[in-house]
Amino acid sequence: MMNSADASDASDAFGGADREQAARTNTSANSSNRPYLLLTPGPLTTSETVKAAMLRDWCTWDNDYNGLVQSIRSRLVHLATNTPERYTAVLMQGSGTFCVESVIGSVIPRDGKLLVLTNGAYGKRIAQMASVYGIATTVLDFGETEQVRAADLKQRLQEEGDITHVAIVHCETTTGMLNPIADVAAIAKVHGKTVIVDAMSSFGGIPLDVHELQIDYLISSANKCIQGVPGFGFIIARTEALAGCAGQARSLSLDLYDQWSAMEAGGGKWRFTSPTHVVRAFDQALRELEQEGGVAARYQRYTANQELLVNGMRQLGVYPLLQSKVQSPFITAFYYPQSERFSFEELYARLKAAGFVIYPGKISAADTFRIGNIGEVYREDIAKLLQIIEDECFW
Ligand SMILES: *Cc1c(COP(=O)(O)O)cnc(C)c1O
Repeated sequence: MMNSADASDASDAFGGADREQAARTNTSANSSNRPYLLLTPGPLTTSETVKAAMLRDWCTWDNDYNGLVQSIRSRLVHLATNTPERYTAVLMQGSGTFCVESVIGSVIPRDGKLLVLTNGAYGKRIAQMASVYGIATTVLDFGETEQVRAADLKQRLQEEGDITHVAIVHCETTTGMLNPIADVAAIAKVHGKTVIVDAMSSFGGIPLDVHELQIDYLISSANKCIQGVPGFGFIIARTEALAGCAGQARSLSLDLYDQWSAMEAGGGKWRFTSPTHVVRAFDQALRELEQEGGVAARYQRYTANQELLVNGMRQLGVYPLLQSKVQSPFITAFYYPQSERFSFEELYARLKAAGFVIYPGKISAADTFRIGNIGEVYREDIAKLLQIIEDECFW
């Protein structure tokens, strides 16, 4: 029986090279807990110690648990900015979409208008949420393979002066595209707009500072670059902006302001049943992020993984959809190889049998599949994957 102290000891023992070694052992595709390595954009492969942290039941109104929640909130703010006094973190039940929806439904006033910059499914989903809530919405779409252009934003803001909020996806996971959030936020701010960033698949995996970037609301979830398990997400909010959102929510359970004020008043108490085991695993995942060397070190690992992957795939005649200058280090979309014999289902089945799960494509303009490299995934895993693809190459 493992209690929380054991889980902490286990993680503490994995200092430096030892932890790296332990992580590698953990990544073995033959581990009984892990029939395959997830090369997907989340849920992703987590460490054994993150999973072990869930082997205890927690009371939701006990001080120990609420203290853990407060500590997580504070560590998230410190991960997001060097100016933590201006920001707060709110944890929200559900998957990442629930958290994005809590922002969209809670921070835009009745007479507000949202501009969504889209170049993939997740941007479109934000516009869809706004439409469900009856929020006035306008969309600036860049197709599926073009980066968002900040200059176009400027023009749209001049044309439609009644826009109050601008939303953008940082890494559009549909393709792996990294969008220019710094330029977008800077222009939005010059025009006095509130900036909302869906950083679901990037936060924790790439250095950024919400205060420097002038972001008002940034959304991410437990099961992406922080490498926790699915069950909740979080919003990093500029406190002054969020404090003005009382009574605006169009949903009771997704009321971001109420969730925040209850957490503040109750010292870490969630309004409704919280995913206790998932929160405990997330605490462990945050420690492991720190042990790895923080966001900068994780960014380097992901970047090295992604470069190894793309270079190896090119040598096998499989090419990435995006140009490298707009490509994120988290997930890569590849064109299907140009062969009649190629079938994604066949590739998927062969790789799964060999211990790797990849991801189908999600765009209409081209036949693609995707390979993620976030989670407990190391160089040797990517090397092994490439070797298997070469050995199994049936097209
Ligand atoms: C994963 C992801 C989401 C949330 O998806 P869920 O399935 O609800 O967790 C939202 N936006 C982006 C960019 C994502 O990558």
